[in-house]
Amino acid sequence: MLNHRAPISYAGAMAHAMSFDYQKTGNGPAPLLPPRHRLGLAVLVLAMLGATQPAAAQDRSVSELARRVLSAAQAGSFRSNREYCGTIGFNAAGHLVASHARRGGRDHCLPEDPPGAVMVVASFHTHAGFDPDADSEVPSVDDVLGDRYEGLHGYVATPGGRVWFIDGQAGTVRQLCGRGCLPTDPDFEPQVFGPVAQRYTLRALRRREAE
Ligand SMILES: [Zn+2]
Repeated sequence: MLNHRAPISYAGAMAHAMSFDYQKTGNGPAPLLPPRHRLGLAVLVLAMLGATQPAAAQDRSVSELARRVLSAAQAGSFRSNREYCGTIGFNAAGHLVASHARRGGRDHCLPEDPPGAVMVVASFHTHAGFDPDADSEVPSVDDVLGDRYEGLHGYVATPGGRVWFIDGQAGTVRQLCGRGCLPTDPDFEPQVFGPVAQRYTLRALRRREAE
């Protein structure tokens, strides 16, 4: 799972810098928007940055970058049996930037922010090596809740070489690519946890974790 970070709102800070009309309370500082609003605001801020790609193409670019950084992190993640994690965002020029994939623990990881990012839009993490005691071929409920809390989408790589997309707004997960599409742990045993569906709702993930 991905640890919750301090709820720094990049979109909020950016919007503040760009003089969005905040509702100030008294003389205190303008409140940052709740994290769950970050994705919606991200679209506005990116438009102001002059990002010219349509939203769908932008999503594809984020997904491609996530897949590349996850693919590169897999071998080290298996060897050390630790999660690796990071975040993806946009710099002031509107270009995508990914953070260094930071090594975490067996089932937790605290990501860094991308250098120069003015807005973070997605998290990514690996699920370490294959463990017959951990159902790590699917994102965990905490993975989904963490991204939703942060107002981010998420990307997860599994020991079986799957890549999952976590929709941080809908709270659903779906496979972007199936078993073996990324480097796979040589110790991976596909039959241990039964079939893996193409998509899960949060409720379905909770049911799977309870089994
Ligand atoms: Zn996870």
